[in-house]
Amino acid sequence: MKLSRLGEFGLIENIRCRTPAGRDVRIGIGDDAASVKNRGDSSLITADLLIEGSHFDLRWTSLRDLGHKALAVNLSDIAAMGGIPDYVILSLGIPAHFDSEDIDAFYRGFEELAAEYSVALVGGDTNAAEKLIISVCVIGHSSAKPVERRGAKAGDDIYVTGTLGDAALGLKLLRRVRRNSTRKGQPAVTLLARHHRPTPRLAAGAQLAKKKLATAMIDVSDGLLQDLGHICRASAIGAIIEAARLPLSPAYRALAGKEGCDALSGGEDYELLFCARRQNRTQIEKLSIRAQVAITRIGACVPADRGIVVLDPSGKAVPMRIQGHDHFKKARSSV
Ligand code: ADP
Ligand code: MG
Repeated sequence: MKLSRLGEFGLIENIRCRTPAGRDVRIGIGDDAASVKNRGDSSLITADLLIEGSHFDLRWTSLRDLGHKALAVNLSDIAAMGGIPDYVILSLGIPAHFDSEDIDAFYRGFEELAAEYSVALVGGDTNAAEKLIISVCVIGHSSAKPVERRGAKAGDDIYVTGTLGDAALGLKLLRRVRRNSTRKGQPAVTLLARHHRPTPRLAAGAQLAKKKLATAMIDVSDGLLQDLGHICRASAIGAIIEAARLPLSPAYRALAGKEGCDALSGGEDYELLFCARRQNRTQIEKLSIRAQVAITRIGACVPADRGIVVLDPSGKAVPMRIQGHDHFKKARSSV
């Protein structure tokens, strides 16, 4: 049914009916504000805004995948503080030509991920807009001290979870496939999934915080070098990254050569980048097994005056210009 027929309140009623009653939710969707039980002494609160045309393109993104991604990018921010997500608010600006089935598909993707991590949808706001606009706010808590971007010291190791560059290469393929509809092989399918359905590294983040192993942490949303730059500035350190150590997936290795992609600056992997004391290497290996995610040591923190240096496989320093995503500078668009 067209939203113009269903109306705002019909749509909200549909959303209310389909939303499961969340744990610890005293008042959920349907009143002027939600009321929930606090799970920790203090809360972690994060928000992200996704705008059609600058963060996603509906020509190659399904609404179900978009629902997943809108929540995943916020959960990733909670993971990067070492936190546990509890509640979520979802606000939408929706073009009038949308069908209620489109919004159903979006909520399905959103709710599947919410259920996986026991996050309760407790409210939102709905408006008509020229383009699809998605605003998500997640409230969580941390069972330990949250891990900030500041806190790394020269001499610490630098690690990253999972693999790098997949999502950016997936996006490149999407753009190219649209132009000449190439047949998709398995590596391409894997990379597209990494672009459309990122995995928030919540278990790894929470365990790093609980065991006090991470001295500084961030999620890689805008590219490794850009996000490493944020840790370096906040912690007043420099960094040396060994290019040969960067974790690359088999799918990336199969297709990156032809596409000329770059695991150092490609965005949207939503992996965790963190620093840790050298003496904790064995503990981090153990944590990687427990959290069921690869954790790779990719470099070390150095004094701030050395800046960020990338060593090529022969050990030679490659001059680096930090290149990643900046919405106002328009270094690249993510669609
Ligand atoms: P208000 O006039 O106070 O903004 P609304 O009529 O917009 O109230 O919202 C009614 C209820 O529906 C509230 O509990 C609100 O949190 C919830 N809600 C509105 N839009 C959404 C949405 N897109 N997703 C989830 N809950 C929503
Ligand atoms: Mg409202």
